[in-house]
Amino acid sequence: MARDVKCEVNSCKYWAAGNECNASSIYVVSNHASKAREFHETDCKTFESKI
Ligand code: SF4
Repeated sequence: MARDVKCEVNSCKYWAAGNECNASSIYVVSNHASKAREFHETDCKTFESKI
């Protein structure tokens, strides 16, 4: 279980100073139909825009 999630997506409403994620849990998905092979093929589905 991940307990210390670091994230630099500061446009997310769960983002906090120090690149901390304040969500109680996060859900990460593959952003392609096939299985992800590289980090850039994954996305945080918990993201919610604060803008
Ligand atoms: S919910 Fe996802 S995108 Fe938002 S701060 Fe947490 S890890 Fe980053």
